[in-house]
Amino acid sequence: MTIVDVDEMPILGEPLPVEFANTLYVSDGTTIDFLGTPALIKSWFALAFPSAELPGRLRRADADAVRDLRNVIQRILGDLVDERVPAADDVAALNNTAARAPTFLRLDWSNPTEPNVTAQHGGDAFDATLGHIASETIALVAGRTRVLLRRCEGPGCTMLFVKAHHKRRWCHQSCGHRARQASYYRRTRLAGARQV
Ligand SMILES: [Zn+2]
Repeated sequence: MTIVDVDEMPILGEPLPVEFANTLYVSDGTTIDFLGTPALIKSWFALAFPSAELPGRLRRADADAVRDLRNVIQRILGDLVDERVPAADDVAALNNTAARAPTFLRLDWSNPTEPNVTAQHGGDAFDATLGHIASETIALVAGRTRVLLRRCEGPGCTMLFVKAHHKRRWCHQSCGHRARQASYYRRTRLAGARQV
């Protein structure tokens, strides 16, 4: 497991469940867990979900709960990309996390011309945080975004993204750059081999 720097957090601007799934990165046989320590978990939430309420001191069980939910969501989204029906255990785990934080709608009419509705979550703050991610995931996989989920085409890259633009093939332009480099090296190697 590679040790990571907080500055390297992979935030792509994807929907929250996709960002969450992308915190476990596997490329070229290297696994990087961007939620590998309580400090990394706090850093990721500060960047990707700043309104989330985490306990002041994340206990081991809390950190495990965050990573367990992440693993479930990563498997489910991966199944959808690969056109498989997600495992019943994973769907049940997602539902259980969502149920720990009942959702209700809150109406805010402080702007006279435009009422604003937000989804709120009951339960304790940490349950509400995980419940929010679980609920967002349920909404994402049941909605139109499901069919737009893709895995990066970069060499060995497992990052997921929502293909909102029909030409997008990579999680990030640096992956596209790596892909082009790899195909350039392949071409030049082949060209070199033919000359011998
Ligand atoms: Zn990539």
